[in-house]
Amino acid sequence: MARLVMKFGGTSVADIERIRNVARHVKREVDAGHDVAVVVSAMAGVTNQLVAWCRDAAPLHDAREYDAVVASGEQVTAGLLAITLEGMGVNARSWQGWQLPIHTDNAHGAARVLDVNGAELIRRFKEMKQTAVIAGFQGIHKETNRITTLGRGGSDTSAVAVAAAIGAERCDIYTDVDGVYTTDPRVAPKARRLDKIAFEEMLEMASLGAKVMHVRSIELGMVHNVRIFVRSSFEKPEDINPRANFTGTLICDEAEIVEQQVVTGIAFSKDEAQISVRSVPDRPGVAAAIFGPLAESNVNVDMIVQNVSPDGSTTDLTFTVPATDYERARITIEKAKGAIGYDRLDGATDVAKVSVIGIGMRSHAGVAAQAFKALAEQKINIRAITTSEIKFSVLIDAAHTDQAVRTLHTLYGLDKS
Ligand code: ADP
Ligand code: ASP
Ligand code: MG
Repeated sequence: MARLVMKFGGTSVADIERIRNVARHVKREVDAGHDVAVVVSAMAGVTNQLVAWCRDAAPLHDAREYDAVVASGEQVTAGLLAITLEGMGVNARSWQGWQLPIHTDNAHGAARVLDVNGAELIRRFKEMKQTAVIAGFQGIHKETNRITTLGRGGSDTSAVAVAAAIGAERCDIYTDVDGVYTTDPRVAPKARRLDKIAFEEMLEMASLGAKVMHVRSIELGMVHNVRIFVRSSFEKPEDINPRANFTGTLICDEAEIVEQQVVTGIAFSKDEAQISVRSVPDRPGVAAAIFGPLAESNVNVDMIVQNVSPDGSTTDLTFTVPATDYERARITIEKAKGAIGYDRLDGATDVAKVSVIGIGMRSHAGVAAQAFKALAEQKINIRAITTSEIKFSVLIDAAHTDQAVRTLHTLYGLDKS
């Protein structure tokens, strides 16, 4: 019998009625003879509430206690789903991260999974036909014995890690859309569902803002070769034949994709901030003087643009950081003013990064140039650009995000007909 991991996100377990719906999806697979490990998120809105309470209690709080608080949402859902399954006659038991255990490092709030022990789950599949219901998003740091969480959206990563640990044939990510789309369907109604997307492309999409999958879940899937399907929990459980094909997106090896398009998808992120350091001396060592202190302050710098100096003596240097790092970055640069020797510091948080992704870009030139022209025609100003092998990104005013996404979506022929 095949082993399956079924992961359900927040909207899919939003209330008891939705949890009953999830239980029917699980029962369908169990009745078909599969051994199932379910991974659940907190009920919709719960994690946001828990995070808000931590901030309310103290804006600067201990990350270990943040984890103790925010990990609780998943515990509730796991218990409720196990109760519901038992009520339907499915032998089920809930598990928290520490009980398996799911070991992580001690980066509280954004911990990395180190290993998952699936032995007890497998024993119970074999000896008791017992379904496991695992709280997503959480693990334990072995040395300190403290609960950790994997970062927002981290239940996807829990699911893929469990799938790797139990050697699952498939890891099904059930969510509120029926797959991965060419871009966020909420922004571009003409977005199309992809039947398949390569790990590398999904990794870029997720890191560049498509929150349909947690970035680390894709990294893990790639390393352990887990077959990840993104599909909808809103399809009626009774309408699905567990032995037939279903609607969804397979995230897989590039080699499995026969018809490769040049551009696969478009992602965007509004969690960006721009900092411009004005009139810095144009001499060797100045970039080091700026980015050294930022690195020491753990600020992640993304796009960097250095202007050519008009007079040969000073120049402007612009870079982007995650919006959450904005204040820290400004303070760091202000402190280093003496060493850098600049004139003025400008900043903006009303910016967005729009990115175009596709493995086909490796072998096609001029893909980005088309975008610059199309955006110019829409009178959308580009503040910064970065490119790499399979993607490029532009920084624009946040107010133009949706328009830019739709323009590029049409430009690269991604609109559904
Ligand atoms: P869950 O709670 O199930 O984990 P998420 O809210 O984390 O669900 O992710 C699903 C959402 O991701 C969708 O509702 C959709 O708006 C958004 N999304 C962003 N980009 C994409 C994309 N390219 N394809 C599909 N969904 C996307
Ligand atoms: N509940 C967590 C969050 O909202 C983890 C998840 O849903 O994946 O971020
Ligand atoms: Mg999610």
